Amino acid sequence: MKRLHPPLIQATDTVHACAAGITIADRAQALMDALPAIQRSEAEYLELGATGQLYRITPSDSVTPAIDATLMGVIYKSHFARQGSPSRTLYDQIRMAPEFGICPLCGQRNVATVDHYLPQTRFPTLNLTPINLIPACSDCNKKKLASVPTSAENQTFHPYFDELSNERWLIAEIQPSAPPTVSFEIRPAGTWDAVMTARVRNHFLVMGLEELYIAQAASEMADISYALEDIGAATGPDGVRLHLNSQFRSRHAHNPNSWKTALYEGLRDSDWFCAEGHRLIRNRSQINTMGVAQPAL
Ligand SMILES: [Zn+2]
Repeated sequence: MKRLHPPLIQATDTVHACAAGITIADRAQALMDALPAIQRSEAEYLELGATGQLYRITPSDSVTPAIDATLMGVIYKSHFARQGSPSRTLYDQIRMAPEFGICPLCGQRNVATVDHYLPQTRFPTLNLTPINLIPACSDCNKKKLASVPTSAENQTFHPYFDELSNERWLIAEIQPSAPPTVSFEIRPAGTWDAVMTARVRNHFLVMGLEELYIAQAASEMADISYALEDIGAATGPDGVRLHLNSQFRSRHAHNPNSWKTALYEGLRDSDWFCAEGHRLIRNRSQINTMGVAQPAL
């Protein structure tokens, strides 16, 4: 979950660019005629989004009598987002905004598409509105689907509006087991109110982030297991902790609440892991008496 700068473009830019690429004259004119309604909706969105109240926007079936939700969907797909269209550069500007092309909704996978925060089927007036268009990976886009928030608490994270704080709020717990297992939990930051806490937890649930992070953490631990065993054998638990702290600080400087930051903090703070757990990451049944891993059968 990562905050993004809001797009520098507005609905008037996307609507003009779209209309310029529509060869059916009546349709292009109908879209231009709809611009005042689209702008009014954009102004309402900006006002309510700034205070976390986008759930108050009423769904609708059409933009104007001439443009219903289906036609607006066609305009979005066949004109706004179409490769080679005059508006595609605006679409790409939104899609390619995140650093390293990483999805702001999960913080893990690559951006593949643009998600409508308020879904296009229910909010056609916001279909081309940049502030409603969020770069996303395919999985996050699919998991969110056309869900419509009905209360302040069940709104998912909005990267253009929501500031989650640099304080540590994503926490990893290490369970003593062979191999060690990790779970993640949300510890509300001091700046969050009850609504923000509920929203972050809802976002985790809707996007399946705990399962994603648990799988990534298991893979990360497998990646570092040999190095940790070497460090532990040479310098003992204190050396392991020192190494993990260095890894934590490096991740924390980049993103204070990535799953990696949380993982390395959790590993560092686990006395059990530093003393013993780091030697249990590899499946011991696959290691022979010489300490050499056997190929998996
Ligand atoms: Zn994602």
